[in-house]
Amino acid sequence: MPISKQNLEIRSQLLSAVRDFVKQEVLPQAAEHDENDTYPTELVNQMAELGLFGMTVPEQYGGLGVDVTTLSMVFEEIAKGWMSLTGPIGSHSMLTWGITQYGTEDQKERWLPDLATGKKRGGLALTEPGGGTDVASMQTRADKDGEQYVVNGTKQFITNGRNGDVFLLLAKTDMNTEPPHKGITGFIAEKGHGFTAGKDFNKLGYRAVDTSELVFQDYRISADEVLGKQEGNGFYQVMDSLETGRINVAARAVGVAQAAFEAAIRYAQQRETFGHPIATRQSIQNMLADMATKIHAARLMTRDAAERKDNGERVDQEAGMAKLYASEICSEVTLDAMRIHGGAGYMKDSPVERYYRDAPLMIIGEGTNEIQRLIIAKNLLKEYEI
Ligand SMILES: Cc1cc2nc3c(=O)[nH]c(=O)nc-3n(C[C@H](O)[C@H](O)[C@H](O)COP(=O)(O)OP(=O)(O)OC[C@H]3O[C@@H](n4cnc5c(N)ncnc54)[C@H](O)[C@@H]3O)c2cc1C
Repeated sequence: MPISKQNLEIRSQLLSAVRDFVKQEVLPQAAEHDENDTYPTELVNQMAELGLFGMTVPEQYGGLGVDVTTLSMVFEEIAKGWMSLTGPIGSHSMLTWGITQYGTEDQKERWLPDLATGKKRGGLALTEPGGGTDVASMQTRADKDGEQYVVNGTKQFITNGRNGDVFLLLAKTDMNTEPPHKGITGFIAEKGHGFTAGKDFNKLGYRAVDTSELVFQDYRISADEVLGKQEGNGFYQVMDSLETGRINVAARAVGVAQAAFEAAIRYAQQRETFGHPIATRQSIQNMLADMATKIHAARLMTRDAAERKDNGERVDQEAGMAKLYASEICSEVTLDAMRIHGGAGYMKDSPVERYYRDAPLMIIGEGTNEIQRLIIAKNLLKEYEI
């Protein structure tokens, strides 16, 4: 379905505001926050003022109500400035997506308005020390006790873990169900007695934003907070949220790659060796051409997955392909940008060094690329079964 004129106008205004924000606020501060690993409180608050915590939340609950395609374009713009800043709004948007799609009316009214404005912030609590890929083997359990559940367990590597308030928590409500993922339930869990942040992780890239443990010790949560009041449906609910998550990760990868490319093509025209700019050398030109071609393909794949999602299709295959391709080329392009910069690109005062460190997260996050390949192959074998 083509986007309406009115929504196109909203998209264009939002993108213009985000570009201004990136240029005027993000770019001057990114390197210092990254280097010192300091949480960019002011920038995150400004993103809340722009409405970015409620992008896909329907307007009736106080959000902007934009489509996934617009969301992906915003992620690309922000990542082009500084990928870390996509973290606070990225996992938060998977939480709001889950509530919007699967929450009861009561849950939507209770949670979405404060999440849409960023008054409350949150994310997705899925990964555990025992593993992130093998979701079904999770050990965090929620045992029914009257009208409540008692949760015990530890989640790790959780974006917004320290600064967030509310999480889409996956826990086992039945440890023995076969297949095991049918024993997983989604909860809308707010920090409080028995639910705290544990240790913070020190990261290669994606710095300055919090990635933490979440610890549950006899944490009591009302049965009213079971997402959609559907016990045992958490795995499916989160897989849907992860489709939008993969699209936003693909968009982040496109943004970082684009920033690296632009830095490289500028530098190639400024840097002279043997009396000529290095941009006159065919080997450098080949690199630039390949970089731009890969970015173009990755962007088209990301937009295609987002548009399909907006049309109501299941896009595990297309979102997986976009995330896989965009993240792999992001790592290649950021390395090529460093090659073009020579030694200068290896130094801390070059943004290219940060792009290179930020790129691998997109290979790992929202399901590793090995898992994307498994999903893609499974779908292909079903489609082409003989
Ligand atoms: C900075 C950061 C932020 C994160 N934020 C969040 C968050 O907000 N919420 C959240 O829940 N999680 C988050 N994660 C966790 C992330 O989703 C997991 O790290 C990821 O899913 C991989 O899980 P793992 O680290 O346990 O690796 P493992 O599952 O142990 O995998 C290790 C390796 O084995 C491969 N592998 C595993 N199983 C198979 C298989 N069957 N076939 C082939 N290869 C396989 C993997 O691809 C990988 O290469 C974050 C991670 C990072 C690094």
